[in-house]
Formats: sequence, C-alpha cells, structure tokens
Amino acid sequence: MYQVEPIGVVMPRDADDVQAAVEVARRHEVALLPRGGGTSLTGQTVNRALVLDFSRHMNRVLEVDAEAPWARVEPGLVQDELNHHVRPLGLLFGPDTSTSNRATLGGMLGNNSGGSHSIAYGLTVDHVVEVTALLVDGTRVVFGDVTPEELARRGRLPGLEGQIYREVGRIRDAYADEVRARYPHHWRRVAGYNLNELVGVGVKPGSLAGGGGDGSDGGGVSSDPPGSARGLNMARLIVGSEGTLVTIVETKVRLVRRPRTTALDVIHFRDLQEALESSQSILETGPYAVELTDKLILDLARGNIEQAQRMGFVQGDPAAILIVEYAGDSDAEVRAKVAELEARRARERFGYAATLAFDPAEQQSIWKLRKAGLGLLLGMKGDKKPIAFVEDTAVHPKHLAEF
Ligand SMILES: Cc1cc2nc3c(=O)[nH]c(=O)nc-3n(C[C@H](O)[C@H](O)[C@H](O)COP(=O)(O)OP(=O)(O)OC[C@H]3O[C@@H](n4cnc5c(N)ncnc54)[C@H](O)[C@@H]3O)c2cc1C
Repeated sequence: MYQVEPIGVVMPRDADDVQAAVEVARRHEVALLPRGGGTSLTGQTVNRALVLDFSRHMNRVLEVDAEAPWARVEPGLVQDELNHHVRPLGLLFGPDTSTSNRATLGGMLGNNSGGSHSIAYGLTVDHVVEVTALLVDGTRVVFGDVTPEELARRGRLPGLEGQIYREVGRIRDAYADEVRARYPHHWRRVAGYNLNELVGVGVKPGSLAGGGGDGSDGGGVSSDPPGSARGLNMARLIVGSEGTLVTIVETKVRLVRRPRTTALDVIHFRDLQEALESSQSILETGPYAVELTDKLILDLARGNIEQAQRMGFVQGDPAAILIVEYAGDSDAEVRAKVAELEARRARERFGYAATLAFDPAEQQSIWKLRKAGLGLLLGMKGDKKPIAFVEDTAVHPKHLAEF
C-alpha cells in the first residue's frame, strides 16, 4: 500500500552515529525517519526521508535491575529478545504485540504498542521510565519524571531543550481544561500526541509495572483536579509520537514479574454477537487476557498448512471463539479461576463448548494461532481482502456488543 523510496538509509552503531546523521539531515534540510522492525500498519516507516534503521546494530540490552525491576535498552532491541534476556530472572516486558518476534522497543515507543495482555499491563506508555533522545538540532536529552519545580527550572535552560519545557508548560496551562473535557476518557487509545498526560486523564489506573495491572474492566480513568500542580513524565508524553518529536537512542522501561502459571478457557460461540455480549461478564472474573478469533480467521487457519495443525482444540464450527487466559502463582489458583468462569458460563448460559488448556505447550500453540490471525487476513488470496490503513478501533467493553 505504501511505497516511497527513502533518500538514504543509515544503520547507526551508536548514538554518535545517530547524531552525525541528524546533523547531515539538518544541513540538507531532509526529513529524518527512525525505524525499528518496520511492522507498522499505517505507513509510519515509509517516507522520502533519511531512514535510521536501529534494528541492525543498536539492539542491545544495556542494563537490568532485577529488584526495581527495569531494563535499559537500545531502541532496535526486539521484544522477544528482551523477554528472552530477562526470563531467567522471572521478569517480563508487559506489552506484547503479535509481532513480538520482530518488532522493537523503539517501534513500540513510537506507536505506543500494546497486545493481548493489555488488560493486565496497559500499553507501552505505562512502562516507560525514561528516554534518551536526540532533538532535531542534535542536542542529546534525557526525558523522564519532572517535578513542578524541575519543570520550571528546566524551562530556564538555554536552547531547544529549555524551549521544549517552556512550551510543554504553556500548552498545559492553555489547554488543560480542553484536554480534560475532550480527550477520550479511556486508556486503550492510541491516536495523536499524549496530551492527556499533561492532566492525567485517560490514564490506566494501577497499570504501572510491578503491580501487574488492576484487572479492571478496561475503562479506568483518573484525572487530576483542575488547577492541581502535578509533575510530569516527559517520556510518557513522547510515547506514541511516531518518530515525529525526537529520535530515541536509549530507553529505560519497567519490567513486571512473569506469572508462574497460566491457563486457558477457550469458549466457543455459535454467534459472534453472543461472544461480544458475554465479554463484559468474563472481564468481571479478572482474566489476564481475552481475545476473540472469528470464523473468517478460523476458516483461513484451516486452509493454512502450518496453522491447520494447531486447530485440534476447536470443537465443531464456531462463529467465534474467545480465548480467556488466567494467571496466578500456582496451578491450583488458575484452575480455580477457570472453574469459576465455567460456573458463570453455566449460570449465564453463554457458549456451546469450552476447551480448557493447562498444559503450557498446548496454551502456546493456541496463542500462536491467535497471533497468526492478522497475517492470515492480510495474506488472503484474491482482490477481496482487508487492507490496513485505518484500523484498530477502541471501544469500551460496555459498548462492545452494541458497537
Ligand atoms: C501482523 C501484525 C500484527 C500486529 N499486531 C499488533 C499488536 O498486537 N499490537 C500493536 O500495538 N501493534 C501491532 N502491530 C503493529 C506493529 O507491529 C507494532 O506497533 C510494533 O510495536 C511496531 O514495532 P516496529 O519495531 O516494527 O516499529 P516500526 O514500524 O519500525 O516503527 C514504529 C514507529 O516508531 C517510530 N520509531 C521507531 N524507532 C524509533 C526511535 N528510535 N526513535 C523514535 N521513533 C522511533 C517509527 O518512526 C514509527 O513511527 C501489528 C502489525 C502487524 C503487521
């Protein structure tokens, strides 16, 4: 869908290389375009620009603090590689996209990515602590938490950095009421700059790492009272800006404790509407993830040599399945949660069958099928197929069925 030849491609080895590229781009008045895995769906990494490909060399884990816990990494590091690195410590980077085997931390920060476990962990914005970045004039800055006093002090710094802090303060003073009144009051939202961070509206409560999320229904909203002086995390303001504000050369992200055990309850529905309607009730049981896969994807999977082998868990020919995952510290804990859902299902009479998966290998195979869903859709043969350019709608679970 998007084909634009770049002016040039730079594969930086370190922040000094990036700085040199920024200076060349500035001298020649050429746009700069940072790029990770290039898996974005809406043309984010395609432009007539000098492309900075971070995935080739700037892909290292620099430091891990297992106690806090957090990791300091380069932007070209792939999600799965970070998770592989911290797995022996019982840790995990919470947000998980379907493209986790090739998408990078820099790209996740750029897009404010989230995945199947967003009901537990929120989005990338909920896990960023700090970014080290280059401004358009080549200045190297560290953006993170600033107290109100620090914001004022940094506003007095010379050059572009000082100007940024002054502008952020000015935008907050001028538009706080407007942002409070008009920004969507929902944290599951990735669109435009995170101006909501200036006033704390539409922020996932309790999602900051370590807590593992509040298991709420996904509609959590918190907001500072008007006029309150609050600090700010400048890194959270940058997340989701798709490379348009700064070029990130390093980031510090929070990690979460990896759950000891998980289990799946895959509920089968004869009707898609029934699946959507029951999701609100399922959310009340505190799941770790709830993902829908419909008949179109299941049929495509049946016709795909690799995915067809994973279809053994599907009973009959459902219009949709909901993959409900629970996490806990012990097998007994997750089994109890699954039993609670099954009791609720019998009481409220939703779904015609359920496949329970306690074996890790079986669970992994079911997740692999779910992850393959979008790829199967995009790979449909013939002219009639979905094309990703305006997609990923966020709807409050309460309004899902009606939507
Ligand atoms: C099949 C499929 C499934 C997907 N599933 C999901 C999903 O479940 N959840 C989800 O959120 N997304 C999903 N995506 C979209 C995409 O994979 C994610 O958003 C992913 O995190 C992007 O990472 P990337 O490394 O490929 O980033 P890229 O596409 O390379 O870049 C993403 C953005 O970040 C910017 N950027 C990259 N590096 C830097 C840097 N160093 N400094 C500043 N800006 C930078 C880029 O300029 C760009 O605007 C999916 C895409 C596909 C094709």
